[in-house]
Amino acid sequence: MIATALPRDDRPRPRVSVVVPCFNEEEVIAETARRLGAACVAAAGDDYEIVFVDDGSRDRTWELLQAIARADAHVVALSLSRNFGHQLALSAGLQLCRGERILMIDADLQDPPELLAPMMAAMDQGADVVYGRRTERQGETAFKTGSASLFYRVLNRLTDVDIPENVGDFRLVTRPVLDALLALPEQHRFVRGLVAWLGFRQVAFPYVRAERFAGVTKYPLRRMLRLAVDAITGFSVVPLRISIWAALGCFGVALAVMAYALVSWLFFDVVRGWASLTVLLALFAGVQLACLGILGEYVGRMFMESKRRPLYIVREIVTALPVDPAP
Ligand code: UDP
Ligand code: MG
Repeated sequence: MIATALPRDDRPRPRVSVVVPCFNEEEVIAETARRLGAACVAAAGDDYEIVFVDDGSRDRTWELLQAIARADAHVVALSLSRNFGHQLALSAGLQLCRGERILMIDADLQDPPELLAPMMAAMDQGADVVYGRRTERQGETAFKTGSASLFYRVLNRLTDVDIPENVGDFRLVTRPVLDALLALPEQHRFVRGLVAWLGFRQVAFPYVRAERFAGVTKYPLRRMLRLAVDAITGFSVVPLRISIWAALGCFGVALAVMAYALVSWLFFDVVRGWASLTVLLALFAGVQLACLGILGEYVGRMFMESKRRPLYIVREIVTALPVDPAP
């Protein structure tokens, strides 16, 4: 890390930390900070912090965040050196935050910050994770809700972990859950899947997902597909088994070809060696190609994991709190 300084952490932990990944959110960020602040006061009095993570925004998001953080000691603003994507921006904030309870929330106010107080109450009943479940999604295209629903159905078919449907990253977790999450070493971080995998006492909190307050979605189709691939390959080995099905299919074809070649060889005049060659070709070509493609995907992932790159690189951190000198 270059030229970064963290707020001193010999202070007692705040009761609540809110972690907000932000990418090109200049239209909403002031309103988000205002509503989050009010919601935190309602839920935890003065005892809270809000960690904004600027995920390499190209608009004025970082400028605005710096101003907010300088004016309000509850706010810490952190800027990543480039756009690392929602899941890693979230992970960066989670690593930095210090609260006893941690709320993950999007910057666009689709998840109402005012739900923090009732989610805290649900946690007081003994839950370790209170995750928001969308009962309704306002202002989202039929394509988005449809593809999301299909995706979760496929994902749950493919994995042993029960990753709940209609659940995003809007959730409140306790410090021990967060510490466990942060201890997971994997590089491809599909946060909601990892939290589901962790176990603990998890309860759903139904809510209506509002429309974006302003701006447009930062999840184009390409990113949604990427998230889907991360989720599936991160949590399932079923794709590996596809190679076996493909091999079975090829074997079926090879049997048919074998019968055809045998009959031709017995009753018709064919070139010597043709029958055996045809059968062998049919047997091996398909199997090899299928296996190679799938192995390639997994070898590629092992390759990426084995690099052990840092998950993100922090560029700078702004806070009005006293800081230790940069390491
Ligand atoms: N986001 C981010 N980095 C990205 C893309 C998105 O930090 O590369 C943030 C974004 O600012 C928002 C959250 O992730 O706070 C969810 O994104 P968005 O609301 O665009 O997704 P949607 O709600 O449309 O699925
Ligand atoms: Mg959104």
